Amino acid sequence: MRVLELRNVEKTYRLSDNQKFQALKGINVSFGSGELVSIIGESGSGKSTLMNLIGGLDSDFSGELLVAGRNIGNFTERELDIYRKNKIGFVFQSFNLISHLSVLDNVTIAMTLANVSKEERIKRAKEILNDVGLEKHIYKKPNQLSGGQKQRVAIARALINNPEIILADEPTGALDSETTVQVLDIIRDIAEKGKLVIMVTHSERVAAISSRVIEISDGQIIDDKPGVILEENTKLNYISNDGIKKNKQNLSFISAIKLAFLNMKEKKIRNILVSLGASIGIMSVIFLLALGNGVKQYFNDTMSRHVNQLVIEVNMPKNAENNQASENNFRPPMMPMVGEKRPFQQSDIDKLSAINHVTAVEKGFNIISIGSNSLTYGKSNCHLLLVGSISSNITNSNIKEGRLPKNNEIIINEMVARKLDKDVVGKKVTLNILINQHYMHEDFVVSGIYTSGNNDSMSNMEIVMLNYADLESLCKRNNFDFKPTTVYLLTNSDKYTKGIKSKIEELGYMGSTQEMMASMFTEMIDIITYVLAGISGISLVVSAIMILVVLYISVVERTKEIGVLKAIGARRKDVRRIFVSEAFLIGLFSGVIALGLSLLLMFATNLVSNRKFNIDIVIMNSWYAVFGIVVSIVISMISGMMPASKAAKLDPVESLRRE
Ligand code: ADP
Ligand code: MG
Repeated sequence: MRVLELRNVEKTYRLSDNQKFQALKGINVSFGSGELVSIIGESGSGKSTLMNLIGGLDSDFSGELLVAGRNIGNFTERELDIYRKNKIGFVFQSFNLISHLSVLDNVTIAMTLANVSKEERIKRAKEILNDVGLEKHIYKKPNQLSGGQKQRVAIARALINNPEIILADEPTGALDSETTVQVLDIIRDIAEKGKLVIMVTHSERVAAISSRVIEISDGQIIDDKPGVILEENTKLNYISNDGIKKNKQNLSFISAIKLAFLNMKEKKIRNILVSLGASIGIMSVIFLLALGNGVKQYFNDTMSRHVNQLVIEVNMPKNAENNQASENNFRPPMMPMVGEKRPFQQSDIDKLSAINHVTAVEKGFNIISIGSNSLTYGKSNCHLLLVGSISSNITNSNIKEGRLPKNNEIIINEMVARKLDKDVVGKKVTLNILINQHYMHEDFVVSGIYTSGNNDSMSNMEIVMLNYADLESLCKRNNFDFKPTTVYLLTNSDKYTKGIKSKIEELGYMGSTQEMMASMFTEMIDIITYVLAGISGISLVVSAIMILVVLYISVVERTKEIGVLKAIGARRKDVRRIFVSEAFLIGLFSGVIALGLSLLLMFATNLVSNRKFNIDIVIMNSWYAVFGIVVSIVISMISGMMPASKAAKLDPVESLRRE
């Protein structure tokens, strides 16, 4: 039966723009099944070129190369891939086994590329390896085998998809005479089972076992004569086994990942180092996001912990302070940011009390000073940073010792208590205070000690608080008018709080200074976090380049392997998929390493922050983890794209030629 027919096939290599070399000059020949053809001829006569054309590795020729009536010169890329995968089995002089795969995997890989199920792959590979006498060596790596054994693995690989044509380019060229006999026996058995075997050889002895000998010289057939007569044999059971479907399926994603994983195991240290390097950038991004999150959360917690939701603080807007030059607006020239704010007028208070759900309006007064206000107890004196009126904001829960102040009483905070005397509660003290250029001295009884909670920044300031009425009467006695600088709006349910706050802003007033600061601060933390994360993101570019370089090196190192894969039917897509899978795995590993490192760093940082401030300052969010890993994978796969398509585009003939 005619399997293959060549009609006037010519092959011209293009060396440069105007230099050409014709390697095949009009080949006319046909082959049938069950033939064992030896092609002989001097080196450079065109034997390998002819084999590459027949094998579908090179479809750039003129003339016709007919397989089952179709010219493979007109095949599409996809048809050529299928042709190589299902119709052709290649055996090379230098074995071309994939060194990091076991014997079994080397044999099954052609089926993996055809997406045959794992059980079927292994079953069939074992049968074939059994037939070539390698059943004891299936888990060895190629470099643990002798030359003859390697070539038998290569033959098993060529037979795995049950091809019609076996092409062997000097299969015994690298073998000694004893193993040559073993390999030739198998090759003859294959032909005797009805396959077409075309073998290139230099050796007269090898040619002598063939059923046909063709001699090529200078790109032309100069002789074509019959050899020995082949007999049917009962060896090699696998060939009659037609179990394998001629399927058109391709390498699955899972198999690609598995192959990529095996490849990467081969260069374990290198891949671990690359993943580690690439993980640093991702780690700093994840860690910074978590740190920003923690700081923000901590800040908001401490801010809201002691705030009574039913009391809404109102302040005069900042910009109004400057253009309201009145005698009430005195500001010491040396301390421009310290002093009194523009006071509320009765009209302001009327406007605020008219807001829906406001049940009462309390007046308040806060004066911040550096040095002018102080508290005297006996011989000790304590400068006060803040003197303020007490509002409904402050409840018994804020009193650490003693009670809330009544008329002619004040409360002090722990800082002040520490500076005066720890037994000052219940004692008489003198408040020295400067308001509207009036310096006043007045005696008060300390009714208790105020606390704003453990983690409050306020606990580091010296604070005194007293009833607004006391401040008012103090000023009246000194003959000047006194107006509130702060107003507290009371409501009876916290469901109104939000609405009242937005109404206040609408009217042009400011909310609580603490709240303003808090929102400014959180905004700032956000900005700083994103800027820092962005800067550390630059290192991701470094990671990307690193991955790019490593994969390029890998492509170069594995050029021959890529050629083999293509020869046994891998499509460009499959090769690309293997390399992209490697990039994916590097990305995944580095993402996971990054997450692990940032968790470690988080625990370490929180250990310190817990010991010092009793809080977790780094708070991981599962979104950061997912984000980090996804970014890592995406970056890695993008950088893998270029090397992968370089690998995919490699010309199989040239790759195999590579030493
Ligand atoms: P053989 O296998 O018979 O030793 P080849 O088929 O490898 O010979 O080569 C035949 C001729 O074609 C040689 O002269 C060789 O130099 C040339 N040749 C082979 N491959 C290429 C190529 N890729 N580019 C240019 N010339 C080539
Ligand atoms: Mg050759």
